Order: sequence, then C-alpha cells, then structure tokens
Amino acid sequence: MIVGVLVELSNKNIDKIFDYNVPVELISKIKVGIRVIVPFGRMTLEGFVLEIKKSNDSNVELKNIISIVDEDIVLNSELLELGKTMRNKTLSTLISCYQVMLPKALKAKNGSVVNIKYDTYYRLGNISPDEKFNSKQNEIIKCFENNDLVSRSKLVSISLSSLNTLIKRNILVAEKKEHYRVLYKEINNKKKELTSDQKEVVSSIINNSPDTFLLYGVTGSGKTEVYMEVIDYYLSLGKSSIVLVPEISLTPQMINRFRERFGDKIAALHSALSDGEKYDEWRRIVRGEVSIVIGARSAIFAPLTNVGVIIIDEEHSDSYKQSDPNPRYNAKEIAILRSKYHNCSVVLGSATPSLEVMARAKKGVFKLLNLPNRVNGKSLPEVDIIDMNNEMKKSKGHFSLKLISSIEECLEKKEQVILLLNRRGYSSFITCKNCGYTFKCPKCDISLTYHKSSNTLRCHYCGYGEKVYDKCPSCSEESLNRLGVGTQKVEEELNNIFPSSKILRMDFDTTSKKGAHEKMIEDFKNQKYDILLGTQMVAKGLDFSQVTLVGVINADTSLNIPDFRSSENTFSLLSQVAGRSGRSEKTGKVIIQTFNPDHYAISMVKSYDYLGFYNREMYIRKQLKYPPYYYLCNIRVSGKDASYIFGEALKIKRSLDRNLNNFIILGPSNSSVFKINNIYRYNIILKYKDDSLLYPLLEKIIEHYKSISKIKIDIDFNPSQML
Ligand code: ADP
Ligand code: ZN
Repeated sequence: MIVGVLVELSNKNIDKIFDYNVPVELISKIKVGIRVIVPFGRMTLEGFVLEIKKSNDSNVELKNIISIVDEDIVLNSELLELGKTMRNKTLSTLISCYQVMLPKALKAKNGSVVNIKYDTYYRLGNISPDEKFNSKQNEIIKCFENNDLVSRSKLVSISLSSLNTLIKRNILVAEKKEHYRVLYKEINNKKKELTSDQKEVVSSIINNSPDTFLLYGVTGSGKTEVYMEVIDYYLSLGKSSIVLVPEISLTPQMINRFRERFGDKIAALHSALSDGEKYDEWRRIVRGEVSIVIGARSAIFAPLTNVGVIIIDEEHSDSYKQSDPNPRYNAKEIAILRSKYHNCSVVLGSATPSLEVMARAKKGVFKLLNLPNRVNGKSLPEVDIIDMNNEMKKSKGHFSLKLISSIEECLEKKEQVILLLNRRGYSSFITCKNCGYTFKCPKCDISLTYHKSSNTLRCHYCGYGEKVYDKCPSCSEESLNRLGVGTQKVEEELNNIFPSSKILRMDFDTTSKKGAHEKMIEDFKNQKYDILLGTQMVAKGLDFSQVTLVGVINADTSLNIPDFRSSENTFSLLSQVAGRSGRSEKTGKVIIQTFNPDHYAISMVKSYDYLGFYNREMYIRKQLKYPPYYYLCNIRVSGKDASYIFGEALKIKRSLDRNLNNFIILGPSNSSVFKINNIYRYNIILKYKDDSLLYPLLEKIIEHYKSISKIKIDIDFNPSQML
C-alpha cells in the first residue's frame, strides 16, 4: 500500500504531498485524515495522510512510514476539502490550513505533549462459589450489584487493603476510562417564552433555511434567546450547531446561559481553557458526544457532522479575521463554505452590522431579519454626549462634572455603573513636555508602554523593556509626562472621588489568572462591587440587571487610529457599551465623554441611528474606494535590509501595474509599525472589484520569492486592520 503524505514542515518551500510505502503491519490502521511519522531527508517528520494509492506510480523506490500517530481520523473528508479551498483563497500553504483546524495539543511542533487522562474503574471477574470474603470485601462487592463499572476512588474509600486483596485474587478487574478535564453543570433547561418578534425571527430562519441571514437586532433585543431556540429546533432533528462569539464576549455568563439550557451537549472552546482541556473538548466533538460547539474564531473548524445551523454573534467584530499568521482566513467566509457542504443556514447577528454584511443584506444576497425593540419593552437608554473641550477648563481629571454627579446618583440608589476606558490600539506612553521626546522601542518603532507596578517601559511587540527615569534622556529636563490613560490611573482617581464605593477593575492585567474573569463577573453580578471599570472587555456580551449607568471616559482614542474603519469601529463600540445599561426593569442612562462631540461616529450614537451612520459611512467609502465598494488586498514585503526590501517591493508594484487593469495600486509604503524586531515592513495595497487576474499573478510572485530567504511576502485579502 502507498500513501500520499502532506508533510508538516512550516518552511515555505515544502508544501507538497510525498508518497510513502506502508509496511504490512501498519496497513490495517491506515486511513485518510490521520497523522503519521515519516522519514524526510535526514529528519523524521509528522504528516497527514491525504490519499491512499494501490500502487507505486513512479519508478523511485519509496521509503516506509515509521509509525502512526492517531488511531482516529483527525481531519474528516469535509475538512480536508475545506483546507484546499482555504489554501486557494488565502494563498497560504495547505499544511498551515490544516494546522489551524486542529487544537494546539495536536500540533507536532508544539513540543509539550498533552496526555489523555484516565480514571481507573473495576468490573467483577469470575467468583467461584467457595470464595470467602470478610465484611469490607463484601461491602466492595456489593457496589457492583447495580453497576458494571465502579470507580477506583469509590472503592478506595471503603478499604484500600481489601480492594488490593480482591484485585490480587482476580475478583476485580481494572479497566481504564478517559477522564475529561472540564466539568459540567446539570441541565435545568431554562427556557424563556419568546416574544412575538423573537418567534417571528425564529420561524423565518427555520422556514427559509438554508440561507445566510443577517439578524440585525438592537442590544437587549433577545438575539441570544433566538439563537438558542433555533439550535434547539435543529437539535430536535438530530442536527448539530456551531456558535461563534468574539473571544472578548465569550464570558462565563454567555457560556452559562448555553450550559443552563443545553448542559453537557455543549463543548465550549475559549482561551481560559488549558491546552489539555481544549484537547478533551475537541475529542468529545470528534466522537459525536456533543451537538453544540460554542467558541471563538477557530471553533468554526469544529469537526461536527450533520450541522443544522452556524451562528456568528457580534458579526461586526474584527476578531473573526485572522490577521497573523497564515492562513489569513475569515471565519464568516469559512462558515458560508461549511454551510454549503452541510446544506444549512448561517445566522450573522449584530446590533451594529459591519458595512460589508449590511450592504449584502440590502442587496438581497443575505436575508435581513430585524429585532428593533428591547425585550423589556423599554426604549434604549438615553445618551448624553459631553464635550470635554469645555470640561477640561473646569476640572483637571478624567471625569466631567456630569459623569461624577450621575455616578453619585446611581450609587445612592444602590444601582451599578460600568465605565469604559477606550484603549483600543493605544496605551499609556510617556513624552517630554519640554522637548516632545517620546520613548520608543529601538527595534520596533512603536511607543513603549508604561507599566506602573514595575516602573518600566515595555514594548508590546517584542518585549523590550527599560526603567523609567525622571529626566528626559534628550533634553535632561525633569518634565516627563505620562500621557495616555491606564485603567490603574483612572481607578485611583475614581477612588479619590468616591472613597466609599467599591470599584472593580477589569483589564488584561487583572484577568490574566485562570478563573479571575469568571469570579469578577460573578462578584459584580452579586453586587459585591458598585462600579465596573475596564477596557473593551466590559463593552460586549455582559448582561447585568442592576446596571443603570454606562460611562465612556474617552470616546476618541479608537477614532484616531490610522485605519479606514476607525469610524465604524468607534460607532459600534460605543453603541455596544451603551447597550449594557438598563437591560432589565430599571431605566438606564449613558454618558459619553469626547473631544469630538460633532463627529458623526459619536453624535449618531445618541440617537442610535445605525442606518443613518451606515448611509453616511457608505458614502465616504464610495468616494474613497474602500470596502464594501472595493475589495482590498495588502501585500506585505518584509526583511532586515530596508533598501533591498524597498527595491523589491517597487519591482512587485511595477509588475502589478503592468499586469492588472482597473486596479488601484498604492505603495510601497511603510507599515504603520515600520520595524518589528529589526524587520522592516512595506505595504502594497490593492483596491479592485474583480480578482480573477489577481490570484495567478500573486501565486507567481510568491513562487518567485519562495527560495530567497532574506525577503518575506505576506498576503492578506480583505484585512481587518490596515496597520
Ligand atoms: P441580545 O443578545 O440581543 O443583547 P439577550 O438575548 O441577551 O439580547 O437578551 C437580553 C435580556 O433579555 C437577557 O437578560 C435575556 O435573558 C432576556 N430575555 C431575552 N428574551 C427574553 C424573553 N423572551 N423573555 C424574557 N426575557 C428575555
Ligand atoms: Zn520592540
């Protein structure tokens, strides 16, 4: 028997299938989609079996496979095919497409092997009639009256020595059972009676299936309940479901809502799980022990069979696009590909749909469904926009008088507050007030971030760090200014204004410990705290009934990012966080502090005018030839020798110019982070409407540079960020 093996070598030169001979003793175990160990040159490598052949069709003598890694298939035929499509769409290697589908514990290069855990159980062996037992031994044997298998821990609790004796006498026979690391709550199937709006949406989805739907529903309109109802319907038909949520809103709260309704039918894949736990969850999916998978981007590859529906919540989130490394895929596109295979529907949900998806819904490519009202029957919370240009004259801190008095009111009523510190892309950095000197990473050309606890400046790309001094290294004045706001700093200020209130800070630092995030949410829900202060983490997916005030401390930071989507991202972030207020019986309120009160991305949040925003932003996109009117492709050319790289980038640009008509080709220009770890980066940006000529040309370019190690070409189709 001969097999074609795709070898797992991340080197870009090798993305090919090689034939190997299967030794007789392994033939019975060979299947397409398992991994094997093969000799490759002087190395031994891991690879995927992609084809089984009857005979050797070349004259070369083939090498033997060394061993087999998996008993069970790790990539089924659907995923094997999907990988090939992905490869063609993203122009990455086939092997990288397969690797991204599998949990980290299965990756060869990972090094740390994750073990499967086992529990020991016993079953009764043969007992001849003349065997005699003492009372402890009898007690142990009694455990088997109603059970075939009894766990070791239970028997040990009766008597270890009796257990050992029974094992020695072959009365008890050991058996191993896999032990999954994640524990499950009991189902209590909490089901809500749906509103008539919700019911209508649910039946629309079911009756028009298969199709791709955009569920455009305001925050608190009950989208999550709709998802669960649809999932339940497909469950009753014996079909499975995939639910994608952004990592940031994959909170314990969200998972618990699904757990309460579906119990152990769910596998949840999120970053708080260890590699071992993820591996266990993945094996439950492969074995068909779960019917619902909920997870972030890569959960779209969950090896479920017979899928009934794929749901993508917070569809507008940029987390669905993998921007680095290859394959630079978009989970929404993968969802649609998988839905074609399974002949099932995709539901894209959002209160602020991305322009691309809304434009398609308006054109009729996707079916538009609408939930215009909140479930609680109330209108959306009133939004007050505070002009900080005026406020800064009155007070020197980060809080306007209006926000302070509103927090005060809220605390008096024993209600809760969420405060958002918008830090997207920016953090605390230090400049000199005298000469304007800013501390930058010597290798990466980005501002260093100030870490108060260690009094150091650190680079968030490469980890470079240095101590902070009082004097400016450039002009020697003692005039360093800690610019940018950190959550710690705002927390201190808040503590000074409201000394008796209990403040919970939630950011990357405070949630990094396992279980910390979960505990914070639980504590805040139980009103152990009055104010939840945090970064983007507090903006999405949270549902607290006692929160009646949401304050945005600095609405502008996300507006200033050099990216054509900055308005869209700002509008969407502000609308999302506003939606955390007044979700239950009590009426909510929102205060947004900004230096740009007249910018439409901020002013239109006040009236929750998504469609107004959409129209205005679409007009700008059309003028500037951006998506959704044009497709984008970013070609990044990088390497250590800046002038060589720039020269090659220019050559690439000229060749594109010669070969592509009706393309707008920009650059080469410096990436917004020009240097990372001493690697210089140039971008060439393409805008186009028709890509048919583009792919073969890019394949040629990739092929040409493949063997030149001092230059790297990265291609990102429809990038989520233009940095
Ligand atoms: P969205 O996902 O649109 O923000 P959710 O599904 O989180 O909305 O619903 C908002 C709140 O309303 C949640 O607390 C949810 O439990 C509750 N809710 C949703 N649908 C119903 C319903 N039909 N009856 C009662 N409460 C509901
Ligand atoms: Zn650096």
